Amino acid sequence: MSKTTLIYATVFILAHVALVAPFVPWANMVPASLGALSMTSMALTLILAARWRIVDRLMGGPDKSYGAHRWLGFFAVTGALGHWATAETYGAGAVPVLAESGESVGWFAAMGLVVLTCAAMVRVIPYHVWKASHMLMGPIFLLAAYHTFFVASPLAVGLAPWTLMALVSAVGLLAWVQTLLRKREITRLVKVEKATPFVGGVDVTFRSDEPLPSFRPGQFATIAQNVARAETHPFTIAGGTEATRRFVIRAAGDWTDDFVSTVSEGDTFRVGRGVGRFLPQVNASRTEQLWVAGGVGITPFLAALERMEPDNNARVILIYCIRSRESSGAIADVERHAARLPQIDLFVLSDASGDRLTSKRMTEIMQSMAADGQVYLCGPEGLKSLVTTAWQTLGKTGKVHSERFDFRGAYGMTDLIYIGKPALEIARSLWVGEKELPHAASGP
Ligand SMILES: Cc1cc2nc3c(=O)[nH]c(=O)nc-3n(C[C@H](O)[C@H](O)[C@H](O)COP(=O)(O)OP(=O)(O)OC[C@H]3O[C@@H](n4cnc5c(N)ncnc54)[C@H](O)[C@@H]3O)c2cc1C
Repeated sequence: MSKTTLIYATVFILAHVALVAPFVPWANMVPASLGALSMTSMALTLILAARWRIVDRLMGGPDKSYGAHRWLGFFAVTGALGHWATAETYGAGAVPVLAESGESVGWFAAMGLVVLTCAAMVRVIPYHVWKASHMLMGPIFLLAAYHTFFVASPLAVGLAPWTLMALVSAVGLLAWVQTLLRKREITRLVKVEKATPFVGGVDVTFRSDEPLPSFRPGQFATIAQNVARAETHPFTIAGGTEATRRFVIRAAGDWTDDFVSTVSEGDTFRVGRGVGRFLPQVNASRTEQLWVAGGVGITPFLAALERMEPDNNARVILIYCIRSRESSGAIADVERHAARLPQIDLFVLSDASGDRLTSKRMTEIMQSMAADGQVYLCGPEGLKSLVTTAWQTLGKTGKVHSERFDFRGAYGMTDLIYIGKPALEIARSLWVGEKELPHAASGP
């Protein structure tokens, strides 16, 4: 969790305590604050999921909205569990006959929240199954709202905490209805014009018979089979004209495996409009930039290179980390653009030739950059933390922009090993230390 997020989180939690504390007895302050925290967090997650454009813009793009959505989901669950563990009934309730049902409904809401949040975190649950289950968060929110207003609680009708709960419940409900009614995204029918396979993926260009809505380099769009209620998947637009769209797609699961192994010229699909706020600067008045791409994370930069005209203005350093040339579909075009654009300094680092991006190398490259240069990152988490750490260690002030290729952020075995490894190391050293003691005691 970054320092800024930690500050926001602390202020968010304390604001609930400050709001509730003056209006409830001391003994109920903790459960009432946690309950309010859970309700507000749930309402905000529903608002972010409604994908209102103004909200996505304020958040800095859909992937940032999903990032905040996940954190708020975490607050909703911990708030609900903390409330459930510490709350006691108080008084008769706003409508005494409903007080008992208000209490039991609260239990179902908390359990539902825990189960659905766990489902979101477990990667083995396929995305489309998880997405369908996640729609049940709306009814869970309704149960929580019923519990909030009808359980026998110290929240007196009309006082500030009650009014806040009423407000967030109304807006949360509105957001959920918006998500339910969200018209299926307007998509355009396209035909596969070219499909060039590479190791582990395919470089595909679609053509449309009618003009496609314009896009900005860095934006992504959804692709779906041309059938009713088809599953949609987001992919960064790697280039295109008024009538074409190019994508570089890596086989990463059931839908992409099928796409990569079966797509061929003439197939028809539906493509959505470009969205997203990850926008590398391509115009002549740009600031100095560092672009770092890992694997298919090259796609936003490929679209940017295609839009650039040769000039001698601010330099753009592009670091492209690949496993091998065979598994990086776009390498030839990236090198062609770099040759045509004097402003681009291209570094291609291939694992296959043992050329890895280290923090030492990263620091060397960054040292010559202006402090207010901008960094754009698209790739795996490990690469992002290497680059961000190097940039901050050098005391650079320029903003680090990053794009996530995984909105869900679920945890798989690799994540659990990555997270658990430090704990395992400590346990092992403690265990080994233990063993040595007796030996130490007994001498070698
Ligand atoms: C903004 C953005 C841009 C992307 N750009 C590219 C790109 O240019 N090239 C590329 O190869 N991949 C890109 N991806 C990743 C791509 O969307 C997933 O690899 C693909 O959706 C996997 O679906 P699957 O059914 O094959 O795999 P699954 O096994 O279902 O999922 C594999 C991973 O992809 C995520 N995922 C699955 N379905 C979706 C979905 N509908 N929406 C969001 N995430 C999903 C899951 O959380 C999971 O972590 C991008 C993702 C995002 C969010």
